[in-house]
Amino acid sequence: MRDCPECGGPVEARFHYCPWCSAPQRRKLVEFFRPHEELDSDHGKALRVSRYFGSTEPERHVRFSVWNETGSAEAAVSLDEEEAHRLAKFILASGPPRPSRQRLLEAVLGLAGGSRRR
Ligand SMILES: [Zn+2]
Repeated sequence: MRDCPECGGPVEARFHYCPWCSAPQRRKLVEFFRPHEELDSDHGKALRVSRYFGSTEPERHVRFSVWNETGSAEAAVSLDEEEAHRLAKFILASGPPRPSRQRLLEAVLGLAGGSRRR
């Protein structure tokens, strides 16, 4: 039993919504990511990333789990907000340069030009 962060009413842990004020008790976002297509060792696996929201520091975390083709998780680890941000910055900073706006604009104009009369 815990207290609803919205109204303070008692809420059983298994409830997703507060029975007194209907506030969501545990919110999360889940996204699956495909493995690299050319790496055979990752065939049939997927990365599931779940971002948990909550009112306390331990509730707010990002959980990474590796799922196999039988539908079970092989491993999982949770990062706190600070580590999750560090991971996101690492991926963005170490990746290939992103296409510039000019190239994107040219691509869009190129698509539009195909059906546009001059
Ligand atoms: Zn409530």
